[in-house]
Amino acid sequence: MSRSATVQALVRRTHEQRVLAVLRERGAMSRAQIAARVGLSRTTLSEITAELIARGAVVVARTDLDLRQGSGRPAELLALDPGAGQFVGVDLGHSRVRVMIADAAHEVIAAGVQQYDASTPWPGRQDAGFGLLDRVAAEHGLHFGALQGVAVGVAGPDASIRHQVRAAFAERFGAPVLVDNNTRFAALAEAMSDDEGAAADLAYVRVSEGIGGGLVIGGRLVPGGRGGAGEFGHVRVVEDGHDCRCGKRGCLETVASIGALLAEARRHGARVTDGQGLRDAVAANDPAATAAIDRAADLLGRVLADAALMLSPACVVIGGELPVLAPYVVDRIAAIIATELEAVGTGLPTVRAALLGDEDGARGAIAALYHSSPLLAEYDLASVADEPADAEPWRARA
Ligand SMILES: [Zn+2]
Repeated sequence: MSRSATVQALVRRTHEQRVLAVLRERGAMSRAQIAARVGLSRTTLSEITAELIARGAVVVARTDLDLRQGSGRPAELLALDPGAGQFVGVDLGHSRVRVMIADAAHEVIAAGVQQYDASTPWPGRQDAGFGLLDRVAAEHGLHFGALQGVAVGVAGPDASIRHQVRAAFAERFGAPVLVDNNTRFAALAEAMSDDEGAAADLAYVRVSEGIGGGLVIGGRLVPGGRGGAGEFGHVRVVEDGHDCRCGKRGCLETVASIGALLAEARRHGARVTDGQGLRDAVAANDPAATAAIDRAADLLGRVLADAALMLSPACVVIGGELPVLAPYVVDRIAAIIATELEAVGTGLPTVRAALLGDEDGARGAIAALYHSSPLLAEYDLASVADEPADAEPWRARA
């Protein structure tokens, strides 16, 4: 989209939002009343209301025939469609899609999840998302007439996949579409749901099959200049370590991902084949399993301590499978961060396990949309939407 087209779209969206806000506040009104209240010409307002009616966001509630005396054609009164959804968050993972629809008051009004096989190609995953949104909307009597935007969190693809996903959702919904990494969206969701209120500065790492993460600084999700902020998984922690799928050796992911933990525990004699087995082994104090997890937690703690020294987050959050199957890692990591930071005297971040479950990506996607809405906050939509074409294809899976 060209710069001027982007500006035009933003101006139009701002007008639409003002009309919707007035109707939300005041209830049914005639076009003349709306025009007077929002300060638009009758012509501009007619165009905007025609578009909103065509999309189903606004309905003709009734005429003012019963309110007026005398003759003349009765004026139509317009009102918000009470059943219209506003913000859609989608988390397109490798084996499931999760969707969430929220209104402008930040209330989640519908949500759903649909599994698919991990071998499903991206167009099939998108279609599963479209179908799920249709079903969820129908169940709740919603249509997407008042749609302000769709944010899609995508697991691990290269930039071309993201462009394809963005194009498909934009074509399907005819609304602004924001695409980012689903783990980064999860970081934003964790920041928004912090116990102490929204955390303005937070470092999030997710440890599951892969290791990814996200940074929230000054209340904003940080995509980074090249769209790769928060890739904790590919910090090198072992010189001449195992090969990593990114092409380097000894990345954090090669020692702390669930697959790496299973391999390490087995090498030392633990009979574990999956996460549940590892969890049972940890609960039974199996020395091989706990030794593997201790080592991983120590290396993870060092990486997070380095991040904390550089960024001074108020909060460090550990998500994904690791803190679920070995909850003690949170305290162990907190102790390492404390050791590394206390001597420097910069103060310590809170260290906690993630509060949200699998819905974190969809929830964070909606939060990013709220940030991008011109009525809600200034947010550089372009910096997230127009990411560079060479973003890393090996981005951590989730
Ligand atoms: Zn790597």
